[in-house]
Amino acid sequence: MKIGILSRNSELYSTKRLVEACEQKGHTVEIIDTLSCYMNITSSNPKIHYKGRILDEFDAIIPRIGSDITFYGTSVVRQFEMMGVYTLNKSIAITRSRDKLRSMQILAGHNVNLPITGYASSADDIKDLIEMVGGAPLVVKLLEGTQGLGVVLAETNKAAESVLGAFMELKANILVQEYVREAQGADIRCFVINDKVVAAIKRQAAEGEFRSNLHRGGTASLIEITNEEKGLAIQAAKVLGLSVAGVDILRTQHGPAVIEVNSSPGLEGIETASGVDVASLIVEYIEANSYKSNKKRKNH
Ligand code: ADP
Repeated sequence: MKIGILSRNSELYSTKRLVEACEQKGHTVEIIDTLSCYMNITSSNPKIHYKGRILDEFDAIIPRIGSDITFYGTSVVRQFEMMGVYTLNKSIAITRSRDKLRSMQILAGHNVNLPITGYASSADDIKDLIEMVGGAPLVVKLLEGTQGLGVVLAETNKAAESVLGAFMELKANILVQEYVREAQGADIRCFVINDKVVAAIKRQAAEGEFRSNLHRGGTASLIEITNEEKGLAIQAAKVLGLSVAGVDILRTQHGPAVIEVNSSPGLEGIETASGVDVASLIVEYIEANSYKSNKKRKNH
């Protein structure tokens, strides 16, 4: 097969591992810089151009879309879909998962357990909003934030009011969420492929920090997860329509709760801490599924 990896950086661990896994399995692989793709959007013969040539030889695409280029990146993925090329995660699923509010509403609509979360736009509603999610301590999150940036712990109602007021003044979109103290600075990253959790790790925040992101100094270790946690991670990926997802879960007093579903989950932390060859499992999934979808395409 010829597999394209949509990635802006060929030096990233995840990109390198996916290239390695494709080659090991005898596929031809090319890294495509997402922002260098340009498109001919016609109904009769949609095409993607790239550095002067037309990309029409790919059997499958692995989208690794950074959160800073979600808009353009998902339009490139959508164009590949229009050309009938198999894409590992569909553009619509990537778009759903990228918007924290939209994804939480979809998850809640499918009875996926979440921490109590509120959303408001007007500064007049701040007091009510804080009360609605149970008061301080609570977590304020920028909707567009990633890697723990834009996630703030407000320990008192006064602090929460000031942070919310400041963010609203800047016209930022924010969520307010109950602070899950009992998680003790740890979360669980479940790597889901095709309705299975193939690896799970615990990420523990650095001393004095509540955010467990590895980019914020968190450390990863192997963890046994319960069947309930497994089921929750699988359900979260499924309702957002993601074949491959990193589902982040907090252990709360009321059972496991999903805080985020990532459509381009990193491989470094999970492979290193779990020892699972996640990259190869992804390629095996593509082998099984792109074949099915390409066959369907040829039969039409
Ligand atoms: P990002 O997308 O920026 O990673 P998250 O919502 O995943 O944002 O939050 C970053 C980290 O902060 C999480 O990995 C978790 O450790 C911690 N965290 C997030 N929400 C809560 C919460 N409601 N209660 C306790 N800790 C939280």
